[in-house]
Amino acid sequence: MITELYQTRNLPDSKLAALLETDQFDRELFRLADLRRKEFYGTDVYLRGLIELTNYCKNDCFYCGIRRSRANLDRYRLALEQVLHCCETGYGLGYRTFVLQGGEDTFFNAGRITEFVTEIRKRYQDCAITLSLGEHSRENYQRFFDAGANRYLLRHETANEEHYGKLHPRSMSLTCRKQCLWNLKEIGYQTGSGFMVGSPFQTTSCVIEDLRFLQALQPAMIGIGPFIAHRDTPFKREQNGGLALTLRLVAVLRLMFPYALIPATTALGTIDPQGREMGLRAGANVVMPNLSPVNVRRKYELYDNKICMGEEAAECKACLAARVSAAGYQIVTGIGNVTPDKRQAG
Ligand code: SAM
Repeated sequence: MITELYQTRNLPDSKLAALLETDQFDRELFRLADLRRKEFYGTDVYLRGLIELTNYCKNDCFYCGIRRSRANLDRYRLALEQVLHCCETGYGLGYRTFVLQGGEDTFFNAGRITEFVTEIRKRYQDCAITLSLGEHSRENYQRFFDAGANRYLLRHETANEEHYGKLHPRSMSLTCRKQCLWNLKEIGYQTGSGFMVGSPFQTTSCVIEDLRFLQALQPAMIGIGPFIAHRDTPFKREQNGGLALTLRLVAVLRLMFPYALIPATTALGTIDPQGREMGLRAGANVVMPNLSPVNVRRKYELYDNKICMGEEAAECKACLAARVSAAGYQIVTGIGNVTPDKRQAG
């Protein structure tokens, strides 16, 4: 079965379900995922410097620690100078991708986002600028792109309509989320999507729908991580997503999307101290060290016990570099684009 997935990059639903629901196939799954990753990317692991721009959010997602209704959170926004300082530090450490991530903050309207992108682009011609700032109109995505943004991360969170409705308030819609992703792709962004593993009410069939949606979208980047409960959200008593299923899914993604850039996420490192190393061995090829100013890190608390809260940028990079090499891979400073030849290879 795993050989079929390796060779055809696909499996019927029934086989995917069998693969995801037991540990019976894990050894062969991880072996072939690592082989495929090495065929496409060798042992290279790309760095993305994460800058957490704002923890204000107009949305009220039931799982998220920076949701609008959370009253006891000290809110912050980074100023342009602070962001540029983060980029300068990151550039010095060898980063060639800056990821601006944040809540959907109305203060950061299209004009302000465009200004930030323009200023970063002016200073760093040789870097990728990735945005992860939620849902915007097609026109606004186009403005950010024209100002110099190259990539956009927007997890679809779940591709199942009913499940989406259990994770989000009525004001949000899966149709709109998906449309944003299609718009981003059409504009020419290297687009990233993904979902939480083990989010409340998720079933195997939801996960298979997620994989089918990704097959239709063919994103350049795919980010998955376990759901982790946050104490001040409606999901505070829900169970966290599991390590085993997350790793299995990383491997399945590598076999279905050999060309993709797949991070070993912070959430994976939060549910297990060795989570990111295991993620890399299962097929992940990106790490995202935190470049945000240390004094705001604790405020961007999406879930309980989030790691990397106190480290300076250089420490964060050194820690991740050591983890990557302990796992048997090495960090490279290349920009790490998905090129058309990578998509067509094999
Ligand atoms: N507002 C932007 C958006 O909607 O894409 C970016 C910020 S949002 C906080 C980034 C990601 O955090 C989400 O896509 C979600 O998958 C993840 N996230 C939020 N709460 C989480 C939780 N409790 N456990 C795991 N991941 C979580």
